[in-house]
Amino acid sequence: MRLFSHKSRPVHLGPYPLERLTRCSELSAHDGSCESGGLPIEDPSKPQSIANAMRPYFNIMDRLRDGPEASKQAPIPDDPLERSNHLKAACYFLNASMAATCRISGASILDEPIINNSLNEVTEQEYLVGSVDNVMASISAREGAEVWQRIQETERKSFDHTYALVILVEYTREPDPDELSESWIAGTQALRAAVRAAEIAGMMSTYIRLLGYKGRSHTATASELNADQLVLASGLGEINSSNDSSKVTNPFLGDGFGVAIVSTTMELAADQPLAPGAGVKARNFKWWLGVGGTQPGFQGRPFKGRSFHLGPQPMEKLKRVNEPTTLVDTHNIPRIPKRHDMFIRAGIGDLGNKAQQNLLDFFMITKSPLGHSTIPLLGGMVPLQYGQEADRIAPGTDDPKKNAEAIKAALYYLGADMVGICEIPEHAWYSHDMDGTEIKPYHKYAISILVDQGYETMEGASGDDWISGMQSMRAYMRVQLIGGIVGTHIRNLGYPARGHSVMDQDVLHIPLILLSGLGEMSRIGELVLNPFVGPRFKSGIITTNMPLEPDKPIDFGLQDFCEKCVKCARECPCTAIPFSDKIMFNNYEIWKTDVEKCARYRITTAGGSMCGRCMKTCPWNIEGVLKEGPFLWAAMHLPFTRKWIAKLDDKVGNGRINPVKRWWWDLDTDEEGNIIKAKKSNKRQLSFRPSLSFEKQKLACYPFDRTVVPAGGVSVPDRKEAVQRYKQAEKPVDYRARMERGETGPAPSPEWLESFIPPE
Ligand code: SF4
Ligand code: SF4
Repeated sequence: MRLFSHKSRPVHLGPYPLERLTRCSELSAHDGSCESGGLPIEDPSKPQSIANAMRPYFNIMDRLRDGPEASKQAPIPDDPLERSNHLKAACYFLNASMAATCRISGASILDEPIINNSLNEVTEQEYLVGSVDNVMASISAREGAEVWQRIQETERKSFDHTYALVILVEYTREPDPDELSESWIAGTQALRAAVRAAEIAGMMSTYIRLLGYKGRSHTATASELNADQLVLASGLGEINSSNDSSKVTNPFLGDGFGVAIVSTTMELAADQPLAPGAGVKARNFKWWLGVGGTQPGFQGRPFKGRSFHLGPQPMEKLKRVNEPTTLVDTHNIPRIPKRHDMFIRAGIGDLGNKAQQNLLDFFMITKSPLGHSTIPLLGGMVPLQYGQEADRIAPGTDDPKKNAEAIKAALYYLGADMVGICEIPEHAWYSHDMDGTEIKPYHKYAISILVDQGYETMEGASGDDWISGMQSMRAYMRVQLIGGIVGTHIRNLGYPARGHSVMDQDVLHIPLILLSGLGEMSRIGELVLNPFVGPRFKSGIITTNMPLEPDKPIDFGLQDFCEKCVKCARECPCTAIPFSDKIMFNNYEIWKTDVEKCARYRITTAGGSMCGRCMKTCPWNIEGVLKEGPFLWAAMHLPFTRKWIAKLDDKVGNGRINPVKRWWWDLDTDEEGNIIKAKKSNKRQLSFRPSLSFEKQKLACYPFDRTVVPAGGVSVPDRKEAVQRYKQAEKPVDYRARMERGETGPAPSPEWLESFIPPE
């Protein structure tokens, strides 16, 4: 939470005022003698510790440390400073607390490398198990396995990297002894920070290799480099002269941080070490208040003065209601097969050749090297979504309320932005898998986890440019990591649990997020909007039978706000969002977007790598609760202000591109797989397009009974008919009246469901 806006602060400077530290040109002789050792990966002496669930995640990241670089170097700037700033900004975008660069000297190479001895416990096969039913996951899992094979060959080669990118992730406060999650998270700060730093370093090293330079990540569990030495050399630490140890401390974080390094052959501009006494001088009045939009010193470590289970945002202050604020005819919503998904339909050719050809690029984010560098890790984590629970249920885990609080605390501690829990309604389960196998609901509860896609980068983007795909992937990667760790932990406690990620899932996220009280349905359609991060998040789900107390839905006035605001509809590049009222679709109330138009635009746009422009331009895409608090409060509690707040949002320029925050390179990939400069880049400012009437805005919808997907075949959706169906859709008020008369909406026939099952 900041007192001052960081709108004018370039992303590569990061949240702490590192640029105000005094520097010197060389390390002192004393600084050259520090030692650096590895972290033990698990804690068998504490079976309830979450540390034990982190081991497979360290293993995957350590397997993906290295690999061959692209055969051609990408057309990136020659200026080493521009490169350093770009890499640092990417680390901050991935939530590093600090990032800096330095040269690798002989003193920073360890005589004895840190070796992750548990790597061999995971077989190559584990990358593939469980992912064969999902096209996207099996491709990326295979890629992960291939990368692993390549590491075996490259890791033994001589080490000739010249520069290091040093990444710090700060600790949270320590858990109080009386906090419910204490027995799970106490003593795991170092591992938590290390696993988060390893995630960033792993992705960054893959990115550097895709750009055509050597790159290797060095984690707390596998490294050839002396992390302490490099923290000193890059000016992120100093030897604390007030104690007699050689402990490295950071001016703003003390000794509460974890480190990961990326070594590379890419030439970078090196940061300088700190001058003696730099830390004491830096902790001044400006730092304390956060002048210039930096992290204020008074704030202390994350979660200072706040229970972990409440999370970083004041969700506990919202009005809770028994039913969602939009009509959901729970018992009559048809379950749908995975093949119903418009992206899957694009993959089988339903949206034409162009969309089909572009789909793999879209899924694998091959157009954007930064986005594509998340794929090995995302694919590698898929098999860890499943697993066998421990033979015995851990003592003290039978209270649903305590369990719910402890699960939330653990997820927030690891880095979730929002967590909510609900019972899973039957309609939230897909009916059939991709291969036509019926899915029988198997768990009672869903834990919904949201991860913010990041305000700062969203500020610099148009929403549909070359960072767009990466914004999604960044959040998917984090949610899969932290959700995967907690899912594994639940299984370690003796309860079944399964992760559902963008890579592989058996449940639909939206109804679960809605019921868990994490937001309301918005004009953007298939999107639940949260009052504190707006639409700017991605989700992951854990399903389980662990006894949990569900949350209730929330009401923060969004239905009325979206009635009075049409900004997303106005700014959508392909007019896929309705200017008109909500309709009934598959027996629930929704502002129904034209998912065909949206999917087609996102897959085929030539000036970017996806689209989230509706998210970018929504007035609820806010910088911070404190800064925008009065508006947020008025929008939630004073209906008459909503129209004016929506107008004011335009007046102050929200939704435009803030050039200060633009840090990424516009890179595309050609047909041979070489990275090239993008020929075109979407750089939209606000369009102020006039509203379209219901009649003029031709929107299509494909309710369950009119979506024809013949088994194993291709059928071009009948758009003309779908536009007609939209026009004829029932109004929620009429549906409600019918419900009151005891009538229900249409239900799918068994024949219809069977049509999705491919032939043998
Ligand atoms: Fe429109 Fe882009 Fe939003 Fe799709 S993602 S609805 S194309 S703004
Ligand atoms: Fe609702 Fe306006 Fe946001 Fe669209 S832009 S979701 S109408 S608040």
